[in-house]
Amino acid sequence: MTLTRRTLLGRLGAGLALTATTPLRLWSATETNIGAARITSLSDGHLVLPAGFMFDPMPQAELPLLLARYGLEGDTLRPDCNVTLMQSEGRNILFDAGSGASFQDSAGELVDALDAIGLTPDDITEVVFTHGHPDHLWGVLDDFDDPLFANARHLIGRVERDYWLDPATVDQIGADRASFAVGAARRLEALETLETFEDGDEILPGVAAVATFGHTPGHMSFEIREGGDALMVVGDAIGNHHLAFARPHWPSGADQNRAMGAETRVRLMQRLASERMTMIGYHLPEGGMGHVEAAEDGYRFVPLEG
Ligand SMILES: [Zn+2]
Repeated sequence: MTLTRRTLLGRLGAGLALTATTPLRLWSATETNIGAARITSLSDGHLVLPAGFMFDPMPQAELPLLLARYGLEGDTLRPDCNVTLMQSEGRNILFDAGSGASFQDSAGELVDALDAIGLTPDDITEVVFTHGHPDHLWGVLDDFDDPLFANARHLIGRVERDYWLDPATVDQIGADRASFAVGAARRLEALETLETFEDGDEILPGVAAVATFGHTPGHMSFEIREGGDALMVVGDAIGNHHLAFARPHWPSGADQNRAMGAETRVRLMQRLASERMTMIGYHLPEGGMGHVEAAEDGYRFVPLEG
């Protein structure tokens, strides 16, 4: 049985008195339970992207109708960023580390979101990466380039680690993503303890790695299971609540290998829909927690009710 609670957590800046003009910052946290584990989706903020970055490689004739369906006619996308926290048996496990301070001004709020639920970076026991893109990895170092989660083990899929640490990647990835390669290598090298895992490994009790390659060469999702209760942390294998669901087989400009990304997305959609498994998508709205439901001409995202 899955319980959910959607909470809005307000917090004042430290040391500020409440006045009519004091901005009240709000962090959203969405929670559910898988067996005895508590799963919380924490907001790291959002990204600001040109719409063409995602939509340009898609079939252009059918696109306007679908964009209108989702109210996406503008030039800019503002996807949320949802970091998953799993709390179980004394562990505080983070899936991805957010953007940190040096990617986009609208993101990098994870530490504040943790603070709002009474945790500090020192409380994190494991950081598990879906992949090495900036909005998932760059938050792992602090302002002094030391590991932010000082007491944590860091884990990443072996294929993904090898890709970003390969000196050839920066030359092969394309000019628009060259900074991703430099930034990923620098951060992964700065982590003194970086453990790797393979597809199918039980990386932590009740957490299995599921290869979902394509968005990046070694992208991983994570199946959290206790008894009949399960949840899939899909990362960016399902990258949005609109076209990824309506046309999962279409190529997305967000995927580094578009054919493999589409194949993975279709497979994941079929499985999540048929098993009605709860999912958390990193860039999906409302905390990104919900279900995949088959629709007439594709699928739809159904957020968990609070
Ligand atoms: Zn992302």
